Amino acid sequence: MSYDLLFEPVKIGPVTAPNRFFAAPHATGHGFSLPAGSTALRAMKAEGGWGTVAVQITEVSNNSDMANHPIERIWDDVYLDQHAKQVEAIKAHGSLAAIELAHGGMRARNFATGVPVIGPSDLPILRAELPVQAKAMDKSDIREFRRAHKKAAQNAKDVGYDILYVYAAHDISLLSHFLSRRTNFRSDEYGGSLENRARLLREILEDTLELAEGERAVALRFAVHEPGAKHAMTYDGEGREVVEMLADLPDLWDVNISGWSADSATSRFTEQGYQLEFTSFVKQVTNKPVVGVGRFTSPDTMASVIKSGKLDLIGGARPSIADPFLPNKIKENRVEEIRECVGCNICVSMDAYGVPLRCTQNPTIGEEWRRGWHPEIVGQANKQETSLIVGAGPAGLECALTLAKAGHQVTLADAADEVGGRALLEGGLPGLHGYRRVIDYRLWNLQQRGNVDIYTASPLEAGDLGDFGADNIIFATGASWRCDGVGRSNFDAVDWASGTNVLTPADIIAGKVPDGPVVVYDDDHFYMASVLAEHLHAKGCDVTYVTPLESVASWTAYTLEQRSIIGRFKSLGISMHVNSTFRDYRAGVVTVEDAYACDSEKRFEASALIFVGARTPNKALYEGFAQSQPDSRAFLIGDCLVPGMIQAAIHSGHRVAKELIDDGVVPFKLEKPIAAE
Ligand code: ADP
Ligand code: SF4
Repeated sequence: MSYDLLFEPVKIGPVTAPNRFFAAPHATGHGFSLPAGSTALRAMKAEGGWGTVAVQITEVSNNSDMANHPIERIWDDVYLDQHAKQVEAIKAHGSLAAIELAHGGMRARNFATGVPVIGPSDLPILRAELPVQAKAMDKSDIREFRRAHKKAAQNAKDVGYDILYVYAAHDISLLSHFLSRRTNFRSDEYGGSLENRARLLREILEDTLELAEGERAVALRFAVHEPGAKHAMTYDGEGREVVEMLADLPDLWDVNISGWSADSATSRFTEQGYQLEFTSFVKQVTNKPVVGVGRFTSPDTMASVIKSGKLDLIGGARPSIADPFLPNKIKENRVEEIRECVGCNICVSMDAYGVPLRCTQNPTIGEEWRRGWHPEIVGQANKQETSLIVGAGPAGLECALTLAKAGHQVTLADAADEVGGRALLEGGLPGLHGYRRVIDYRLWNLQQRGNVDIYTASPLEAGDLGDFGADNIIFATGASWRCDGVGRSNFDAVDWASGTNVLTPADIIAGKVPDGPVVVYDDDHFYMASVLAEHLHAKGCDVTYVTPLESVASWTAYTLEQRSIIGRFKSLGISMHVNSTFRDYRAGVVTVEDAYACDSEKRFEASALIFVGARTPNKALYEGFAQSQPDSRAFLIGDCLVPGMIQAAIHSGHRVAKELIDDGVVPFKLEKPIAAE
């Protein structure tokens, strides 16, 4: 298929995007306090060919304080220098710079700024767990909001942004809160009918268009559909009516679905292009260009989306994080080199946790400025060395590719019949197929190189290693699931009663299916236990999920998957027991006690207990070798250094490779706080 149409320019009001690749606004976890890092991150996307690069949510006033999310600000002149530098860095590569001006409305909490949260009505804010209410805006508040938005837009225009956003998406916007029947209980001209509820949105659009003076484009980001929300905007109801009402007012429609968990759905629950079902009607209603997202990574899909008239621009947040050079690779006919987003939402989890983003596929994201890492260029090694890497899981594969790019002669050996380590094994579990992309990208690229030898079915022992004569030996031998009851909430080993059937994730992945009811005990709290529960249910087991923590698969709240996991458990009939600490397993019965009331216990029949807890690093090979050859250059990477997320293993493989290439440990730079006089 020809991809030429993806490289056609697109006119957006008074400005022209050089191609159809649109790096959508997304949380970077950097925000206003780490401007050098976020600027370098966005400039990298421009370098990689994204014709438009958008800056994430940028607060337009101090009563839109979204801390603890590290986002941008433009409500004070102190922030303008960093925006000017950012615009310059994006434009240096010929891309358009866009900025998502936003007011969080009832999503703001204002803990940091200490002023009242505002919204259409006197209601608790839209974070039910927080003890904060919003104040119903009176007419002077509305005037002040319009003034602040206009001032922010003027600031954005002055520093050179090409596209100024008006934001009504994700349920993180004052304008969405005015639009929605769920949050707008006003009886004045801003409440009641849809026309009234949309009045403030229209006014803000008109204000922004007025000051843009035909020199800047004005985009509207609008969530046309809110799956599962009460009084929701729907693509065949009020969502569509809003688009019809404002059809040709903005210069660009950026459309998606809401809330954030629907918009940033993971590959466990959605396929590429999952939003089109809801967003593709927009192009039939407006004459203005339309951009939309949906984890697009396949150029064939992108071309067919454009060809079939569903979108004019391909929006990519996660695809542009995983591969900032995706457009250039398509342009240069290097499609196999695309580092496809696996849809795991580690990026999201970091921002949601309040720290700079990380990516499973792209270890260099967020490291562009502070470590000087580039997603494509690793530099040439100071010395042409030979490196033996033992273990071809995520860490070994990444380390091998990075060293090979730098000119090392690389040998990669793995005991298994196929490379991939845990990405291969876990990739076979329900919903985790995305992890295969971790392998695909690296293996293909390794196979293209003349300086890489890959050996599978090659279990190595300490004695083999010295004979090999490599300058560097890198151990990437992974970690093993513990079967002794030690997990994240309990560090004391359990003395299992004799005759009990305790299995680990490795046993289940290897194909064991217990005969009879099973208890999956989750003391890991990420995805594994819930995935195994689903897997065993599909194999016909009667599954009970038990965890000592307060919620099911706690960390998945940060990857925005927790509600979907709970929903799936409910639909499958998997019973869930939280606050339930393991006490005993004997005679086919698992006993747990309530974490808060020690005298209260529950019993579950179980032909097997699937224990999902901590992991032990597989470093015996390294220790044996290092002991016998203390002067050798031996390094641990990935899970055998410290068990963690696949993202952490890949980052570790990349870091150690870079340290070898650059001949030493390079510490990362720190940003200086801005001092406002
Ligand atoms: P990581 O996430 O750190 O990359 P994985 O567990 O995914 O770790 O991968 C470790 C890989 O190391 C597995 O594919 C395993 O087969 C391989 N491995 C472990 N020990 C040896 C060994 N002694 N010789 C060769 N390969 C090994
Ligand atoms: Fe995609 Fe996962 Fe990277 Fe996010 S962290 S961009 S979801 S691969």
